[in-house]
Parts: sequence; C-alpha cells; structure tokens
Amino acid sequence: MNAAEYLASTLKNLRHTRGFSLSQAAEQTGVSKAMLGQIERNESSPTVATLWKIATGFNVPFSLFLAPSSPPVQPLYSPPLQEMQIEPLFPFDPQLGFDYFSIRLTPGSLSESSAHDIGVIEHVVVIGGILDLQLEGQWHQLQAGDRRQFAGDRAHSYRNSQTAEVHFHSLIHYPVSVD
Ligand code: MN
Repeated sequence: MNAAEYLASTLKNLRHTRGFSLSQAAEQTGVSKAMLGQIERNESSPTVATLWKIATGFNVPFSLFLAPSSPPVQPLYSPPLQEMQIEPLFPFDPQLGFDYFSIRLTPGSLSESSAHDIGVIEHVVVIGGILDLQLEGQWHQLQAGDRRQFAGDRAHSYRNSQTAEVHFHSLIHYPVSVD
C-alpha cells in the first residue's frame, strides 16, 4: 500500500467508524463531499491544507493519515504537485498529545493553513534555508536556528520565497482528547 492508498483507506475507515455519510463528513470538515469521495477512492491527492481540515473536522491528529513508519526509513506525504513534504519524526502517542514533523518546502511554494482545533499550539524550528511564516496577517522571516511558537487555531501560512529549499521542524501540540 502506498502513501495515497493508505490515506484513502484511513479516511474511509474513519468516516465509517464515526458513522458519517459523505455529506455529514463534508459538514464536519468543511471539505466538499465530492472532494472527500475522490480522496477515499484515491482519485485525488489532497493538499496539506485540505488534509488538515479533515483532521480537524474529525478531531484526529494529522499524522493519522500518514502511513506508519519503521525507522530509519520514513514515509513522506508528498502527493503529485505538492510542494510541501511532511515526514513524521515520531509516531503519535495520545498520552503525549503531539505530532512532530520534519517539513520541506520547495522554492516559491506557499502553504496556507486554515485554523486547526481550538487550543492547538504549533512550534516551528527552522533547520535550513529561510522560512516565511504568516501569523495574524503578518509575515515573519525565520532563518536556520530561529524558532516560533504560535496558536494554530488561527489561520497561518508557510512560504518559501527563496531559491533554495527550506527545511523546518514542526511540533503540533493538541490540547485534549484526540484519538
Ligand atoms: Mn498548521
């Protein structure tokens, strides 16, 4: 099973477990019924932003949709035309309540994130390159070694306006009771 197939079956199983129709799932997540159906049938690869909406709507950690990894080889979530690669560094543990990702953005790419669940806190540490991070409508430029903690329950964006890749770590802390 590849990463896209894993995502498709995970979403389908999750929706069935919750007893949601596609329409109910669309209502929960703010992602259209048509798009959800396409993802479940593996006919479409969602953007990271869309996948976040789905995770938030179902109240599950983002990493639930990423194929489990056996170190040291880690799977990457990088659908076609996707300029953001997300690699989980540790498996999600509900007792700890965080996801920890290594993220790479190609030059010129922009990833706009909708608000995550209330109380979600993000921690970004730039490893290499220069990251533009938009918080509360304002862009901040972060260089290697720079770090930022911010409320993930408001809209925010990541951008690479440079000519080299940017690499950063992102720790997402979920407040309570994600599955
Ligand atoms: Mn985010």
